[in-house]
Amino acid sequence: MRSTSPLAVPSDALFGAHNLPYGVFSTAADPRRRLGVAYGEYVLDAGAAARATGASAGLTALLSAPSLNPLLAAGRPEWTRARAALTAWLTEAAHQGAVEPCLVPRAEVSLYLPFEVADYVDFYASEHHAANIGRIFRPGGDPLTPNWKHLPIGYHGRAGTVVVSGTPVVRPCGQRKAPADPAPGFGPSSRLDIEAEVGFVVGTPSPQGSRVAAADADAHVFGVCLVNDWSARDIQAWEYVPLGPFLGKSFATSVSPWVVPLDALAAARVAPPVRDTEPLPYLDDRAARPPYGLAIDLEVRLNGHVVARPPFAAMYWTYAQMLAHLTVNGASLRTGDLFASGTVSGPDPLTRGALIELTWNGERPLELPDGTRRGFLADGDEVTITATAPGPAGSRIGFGEVTGRILPAH
Ligand code: CA
Repeated sequence: MRSTSPLAVPSDALFGAHNLPYGVFSTAADPRRRLGVAYGEYVLDAGAAARATGASAGLTALLSAPSLNPLLAAGRPEWTRARAALTAWLTEAAHQGAVEPCLVPRAEVSLYLPFEVADYVDFYASEHHAANIGRIFRPGGDPLTPNWKHLPIGYHGRAGTVVVSGTPVVRPCGQRKAPADPAPGFGPSSRLDIEAEVGFVVGTPSPQGSRVAAADADAHVFGVCLVNDWSARDIQAWEYVPLGPFLGKSFATSVSPWVVPLDALAAARVAPPVRDTEPLPYLDDRAARPPYGLAIDLEVRLNGHVVARPPFAAMYWTYAQMLAHLTVNGASLRTGDLFASGTVSGPDPLTRGALIELTWNGERPLELPDGTRRGFLADGDEVTITATAPGPAGSRIGFGEVTGRILPAH
């Protein structure tokens, strides 16, 4: 590969040949939404590359779609074929002439929601996060609820308000009642928070009435994105008993524009932390394969200032267990389902993935470099979550970012 070629991407680039995350993009010159693959500082127009290289009609159709959904629905053998083809197009000199014209500088593209979100589920899989929340809200009691180590707790969220990174987030209004208030009032949330999470994108569906075994998770999970589960703590605190999160969460959930294939994360597999409670057999992910979490290192910035570095490797429940639990009652999977991990928090104070933990429910505000303090988010604040994970041969896999700015309530 000539070094002046846009295809000459260093092997240690975050969007190098080992990664190849998928997104949906357009350009000013061509406003059609189409599948792209991030490569170095460029986006490969995947459908154009398929046509230019003479790929099969089937693969060309999957890569020419305006969203990831057709490829997601095609299943793991097609995911493997597509990835092998993309790798060849981007790295083999024989394809250079055909592929180079299909590259667009990343700085020049607009990015969209990469898949049509079917159902959205959010878990609560970090023991450190759950224990911190327990200590804040139930001081003196057990930090974890009695069910916590027996099942991955979750709730069904609102798929229709999942938005792509960069979409502004309007401060939600709702009912809130502080403990000392005699009655609830209505107005803008004054305790708007973030939750730094990892999301799993389901490709292969499952029939209603069937279960997906933990050992079969990788046949269904296509890839991984970053999630910010914006949370209005005051609305949440007043509404959540006894049925769980509702309007305190459903106003917006942001996702990164790039979906990193599970196939790019083989070197990121890591043993989950010691699990000291025997799970029921359907949650036992040790039987058919070594259980693994993923060593994804997140970074949370508030107005450009790093406030936390949450380690996904510390999560108690694995994505295979989450998927097994999600379907154990016979609930079906649909192509485009998104299930998120819940706030990623580690054992140390600077590894906590939500302001409620970082500021201990607002009692210990963060000091920002501009001299201002934050218990929770102010209007105009911008939160950006990025992440990387180990790739093969010492490389790193980049996830890009999920970012959003808070607009005033209206
Ligand atoms: Ca959450």
